[in-house]
Amino acid sequence: MKIDQRTTRALNRRLILNLLRREGPASRADIASVTGLSPAAVTFVVSDLIAEGYLIEGETQRGTTGRRPIPLEINYSSHFAIGIKMNVGSLECVLTDLSTAVLSTLTVNCKSSAPEAVLDAAERAVSMLQRMVPETEGRLIGIGFSMPATIDTEQGICVQSHRFLWDNVPLGKLLQQRVDAPVWMEDDTLAFALAQHLFGLGRHHKVFTALALGVGIGCATVSNGVVQRGAFGRAGKLGHIVHDPTGPLCECGRKGCLQAFYSEPAIVELWRKERNLDSRADRYAMKEAALQGDAVARKILQSAGEAIGWHLADVVNIVDPEIIVVGAEAVAFGDLLFDPMRKSLSERCYEGRAPAIVPDERDNFWSSGAAALATQALFNFEAGGTTQALQE
Ligand SMILES: [Zn+2]
Repeated sequence: MKIDQRTTRALNRRLILNLLRREGPASRADIASVTGLSPAAVTFVVSDLIAEGYLIEGETQRGTTGRRPIPLEINYSSHFAIGIKMNVGSLECVLTDLSTAVLSTLTVNCKSSAPEAVLDAAERAVSMLQRMVPETEGRLIGIGFSMPATIDTEQGICVQSHRFLWDNVPLGKLLQQRVDAPVWMEDDTLAFALAQHLFGLGRHHKVFTALALGVGIGCATVSNGVVQRGAFGRAGKLGHIVHDPTGPLCECGRKGCLQAFYSEPAIVELWRKERNLDSRADRYAMKEAALQGDAVARKILQSAGEAIGWHLADVVNIVDPEIIVVGAEAVAFGDLLFDPMRKSLSERCYEGRAPAIVPDERDNFWSSGAAALATQALFNFEAGGTTQALQE
């Protein structure tokens, strides 16, 4: 591969931006010594980044030994991103800054999951969110769209989604034509893992696993800054590991998958059935009941935690993560679910060394994960191909 000057500059930009993202403000001299770049190269790249608005110079502090060097920091509000997460019946959308901190949220109803209806709803969401951008000079860096699916990220195509019955839908491309901004597409769990790596609980870990316990169950491992999506974007389908082949039918068409037993809706449904409750009884009601001593609710959460921990141990034994970050709807159950999960995990992990399970309890975890798809291009070495493919 021929490395020309432009490539070198792009790599240096990301090196510097990543250092400041991970470690916070640093002076030009510090950047040069940590990255190994020459002071001239640092000065060159930094002036570009300042001119583009991505970096700002902080306050100079007067130390005892005279003037201290000027610290540089990322200007996270210089650009904005939009994240869209596709659910059954609606699109959950956010406007975020470059650190995926949420500025505005929006839910757009979308009764039909036909591609054309989803495109209309997404276009509507983008134009509404763009009107919510604060009165600053910031501009839109791009749009991230996530859904539970196998995604061709380079072409912006949903190759297959069992939940929405999509087959080869080029939604990323089509949306990009409509909104006139770069669009990135990814599986929702992989996007969630990316957000945890860039700005979340995985930020300071070399190898960690992100586990999503929602309408589906999925996990994704980030190793040395790269989300391990597999050859075709199908890695981490923990929810489709067979828990009991005689079990209930899964959305993937097979029987007895883990998520057919213990996805968040499946857990709540088990409780409703046993207690003869209607659909108004949700996860919060179930948690409250369990806390008040409802033995049925407690037992279901215990079985779910044990089963998820049991299969999660296989992931740990294979990928050896430092921590497991858990997000999505079932996080609401808290330790009623996590305590049995931790117990069965440590029982089955090699040498009993189970990594810590760390819940991320923020709202908008899904849609801000989608927004990370748009901001990643700035930081990730890996993202170059995708950006180019969709921008051309
Ligand atoms: Zn399945």
